[in-house]
Amino acid sequence: MNKSTMRESLIDEIPEIAPLDEYNRTLVSHVHPTDWTNPEPSGRYNLVVIGAGTAGLVTAAGAAGLGAKVALIEKKLMGGDCLNVGCVPSKALIRAARVAAQVRDAGTFGIRVPSGVEVDFPAVMERMRRLRAGISHHDSAARFRGLGIDVYIGQGAFTGSETIEVDGKALQFKSAVIATGSRAHRPSIQGLAEAGFLTNETVFSLTDLPRRLAVIGAGPIGCELAQTFARFGAQVFLIGNHPQILPREDREAAARVEKAMLCDAVELTLNCTISRVEARGNEKIIHLACGQEQRQLVVDEILVGAGRVPNVEGLNLQAAGVQFSEREGVQVNDRLQTSNKRIFAAGDICSRFKFTHAADAMARIVIQNALFWGRAKASALTIPWCTYTDPEIAHVGLYEHEAKERGIPYRTFMQELNGVDRAILDGEDEGFVKVLATPKGDKILGATIVASHAGDMISEITLAMAGGLGLSTIARTIHPYPTQAEAIKKTGDAYNRTRLTGFVKWLFGKWLAWTR
Ligand SMILES: Cc1cc2nc3c(=O)[nH]c(=O)nc-3n(C[C@H](O)[C@H](O)[C@H](O)COP(=O)(O)OP(=O)(O)OC[C@H]3O[C@@H](n4cnc5c(N)ncnc54)[C@H](O)[C@@H]3O)c2cc1C
Repeated sequence: MNKSTMRESLIDEIPEIAPLDEYNRTLVSHVHPTDWTNPEPSGRYNLVVIGAGTAGLVTAAGAAGLGAKVALIEKKLMGGDCLNVGCVPSKALIRAARVAAQVRDAGTFGIRVPSGVEVDFPAVMERMRRLRAGISHHDSAARFRGLGIDVYIGQGAFTGSETIEVDGKALQFKSAVIATGSRAHRPSIQGLAEAGFLTNETVFSLTDLPRRLAVIGAGPIGCELAQTFARFGAQVFLIGNHPQILPREDREAAARVEKAMLCDAVELTLNCTISRVEARGNEKIIHLACGQEQRQLVVDEILVGAGRVPNVEGLNLQAAGVQFSEREGVQVNDRLQTSNKRIFAAGDICSRFKFTHAADAMARIVIQNALFWGRAKASALTIPWCTYTDPEIAHVGLYEHEAKERGIPYRTFMQELNGVDRAILDGEDEGFVKVLATPKGDKILGATIVASHAGDMISEITLAMAGGLGLSTIARTIHPYPTQAEAIKKTGDAYNRTRLTGFVKWLFGKWLAWTR
């Protein structure tokens, strides 16, 4: 096979790695080396891990570090979605889009950019590929072999309750971990497949900016990429079937992001369902029903970000006695153990928290429970999350609407960013910190932050919740001035003010009058 046919067949097999420029070649050499020779299995492994995304990599590295004999199997790209087609490329593009938006907005800071903003999309994508390639060695097959792990490139499938096959080799295990992740849900919309569409697996391979882009799905992935492509200069239609974007988020928080999206000229097509898609020449026509109204959108590309489905196919889970469903993935108990006691699962394959940091935290639980009869529980985790729109929405714990639905009593402490000096000075005062606390005492039940760097700010509240610290501790914590995180402290101050009841105030007044 000559070099160019080899390249084409690799791209056919793994379209995520197109275009095969020097950066993607570096990426491939790290995460799917074509000259890789799988090891010969010898004896039983303590742990065989299927899937080398975050969950699989963290499990394998942690277990090997403790002295376990570990095998790691990856059929496509080590690093999984996060490195290759998820967090890493999306955040690189989001950063570039923020720069474009900030330069466009420079006039409000008294900075003139007379020639206007021109987005060089191929250069933006090349930067992303360069940065992704630059960090890919962390997840490389060679690095994991260096950690003493037997790395197998190939599709893993169970052949029994204690054996897995990969590349024609039988691997015996004491314990196994299913960490095969999830992929984009392909909605069954008439004509969509024929018209063609992008998902997170292919959108990062674009080299030309689509002039008109429809994004199906107004969840985190859809919102992040819709705003990003609009900021690059595409005409973007964001299609959602709920009345609000980010339907799981706090209504007020989502409304702030909606406002920002409109400022970025994203056309919000909410509360609509797609009846069919039709290809006409190079254009794609999307037929929508929005209440009584029928609409049509004409676009050049469609990006689908409408939920995730677990990668359960091809694993032959029945042979191992592992229960699963095609919608929910692998079923696990609180110790992340499947219906086969020897087999555990971690990450997107078994969790409703489909985040890299959640996959990482679950992997640590699996190491304890699979190797040391540990009793670590997934339900004990405090998992925050963030949608990296501008402004970002970050959340941890209970939502206000959940508290209402479940009849949980609560108080809210709210601080708008337009009351925080640093946010005003930064020109980033469209947001807030909302903390839910118990009606008595200062225990934090949950929090939502809308801010330019909400994802960084939420960790303070996550720490407080995980460490059992309340709002009065946050109020006592000295925050540097001026920072946007002072908004969090101000919610603590608001809590403290509630402690100054009429009686306490009267008592203080008496004491102060007496000591005058
Ligand atoms: C566009 C996008 C942006 C995102 N942004 C963020 C973000 O900013 N922050 C965040 O926390 N999360 C983000 N996520 C989610 C995050 O990427 C996932 O939660 C995370 O990758 C899950 O890790 P995982 O190990 O469970 O699965 P994956 O990363 O999906 O890895 C699973 C691996 O298993 C392999 N595999 C599957 N079946 C087999 C088999 N039979 N044999 C061998 N190998 C197999 C797959 O090829 C894959 O490499 C984003 C996701 C997307 C799509």
